[in-house]
Amino acid sequence: MINQQDYRGIYIHIPFCKAKCNYCDFYSVPLADGDWLEKYTRGLAAEIQQRASSYDGQPIRTVYFGGGTPSLLTPAQIETILAKLDQAFGLHSPMEITMEANPATVDQKYLRDCRRAGINRLSLGVQSFIDRELHLLGRLHSARDSEEAVQAAFAAGFDNVNLDLIYGIPGQTTGDWEYNLHRAMALAPQHLSLYLLQLEPHTPLGRKVEAGQLYMLEDEEEYQLYRTSQELLAQKNYRQYEISNFALPGKECHHNLLYWDSREYIGLGAGAVSFINRVRFRNTARLEQYLQAAGDYPLNFWQGEILEEMDEEQRWVDAVILGLRTARGINLKDFYRRFGVDLHQKYAEVIQEMKTGGFMIIRDGYLRLTPSAYFISNQILARFIQ
Ligand code: SF4
Repeated sequence: MINQQDYRGIYIHIPFCKAKCNYCDFYSVPLADGDWLEKYTRGLAAEIQQRASSYDGQPIRTVYFGGGTPSLLTPAQIETILAKLDQAFGLHSPMEITMEANPATVDQKYLRDCRRAGINRLSLGVQSFIDRELHLLGRLHSARDSEEAVQAAFAAGFDNVNLDLIYGIPGQTTGDWEYNLHRAMALAPQHLSLYLLQLEPHTPLGRKVEAGQLYMLEDEEEYQLYRTSQELLAQKNYRQYEISNFALPGKECHHNLLYWDSREYIGLGAGAVSFINRVRFRNTARLEQYLQAAGDYPLNFWQGEILEEMDEEQRWVDAVILGLRTARGINLKDFYRRFGVDLHQKYAEVIQEMKTGGFMIIRDGYLRLTPSAYFISNQILARFIQ
């Protein structure tokens, strides 16, 4: 069991994909040259070395390989990165080490080797079990590929598998979404992340919607899909522990809990974001810096831009916004101990209004949103930003 009070996490960004999906706005580039992965791994090793030299020694309990498509890395490259992290930061059990994987890139042997390299949690970007929807999203895999990937993960020995699914895809009906959820649950993953499709105007999907070739769902339809998820997953013992995340008991993602608990984390790799000593900053997204970093690298080649330097008030407001995303909510006593702020008093009026509306409760010393408020959480949380 990981003690949630005293750890930091490491996020490693692998910015390569086989091809760009139609809806994607993340920092990722098509992998043009197989050598890039090897060079990038050396660049990461150089950054790890530099970043660890000024680290304050707080224990690291989670590592998360995100992307892009981290499953393009070979098991040997994963092993090299983890060995370097261990040497530089010290990775001590119990560790949660997650890797995002695209179902188009994995098979049982690869996943078994990844497990041997140290990955113990797998997050598969399934997105949909309907081929028509996958085609619209521009995914490279079929529904069948995803099923095989999940089965391969279990056969390879993983016992902590997440599936990402997207809802609100143009043309999606409640029946389609129920079908997706049933197919997902039939595979018995330990964790499900459900994301509402975000339309980014400059993506191929965004342009089609702009041109009137496709239509996004109405808010009410999206809300119905969300409610359907809450109902169906609860029937199968998946507990909603955050607005978009559901897990079997004990299988919550510790790395994500760290974000929502407003804890600090180190982001490594091109374009990765860190939050250390109240400063949120983004590494340089210039890939060539990483690809050329091996050996005689320039000092601090990774440094990019400062996104936010938080004062004490921004720090605790941030903790409120993130903490209220979780089903557990905010422990009011802990919050006072940590920030010296009595939330109940500070937000007396807003809290009372939300309680009256059925959007918020205080129970057992925790302030939390009610499940029926999750879908409109952005509007509610905005009331806590002064
Ligand atoms: S695989 Fe993920 S990161 Fe890569 S293009 Fe598709 S959505 Fe973006």
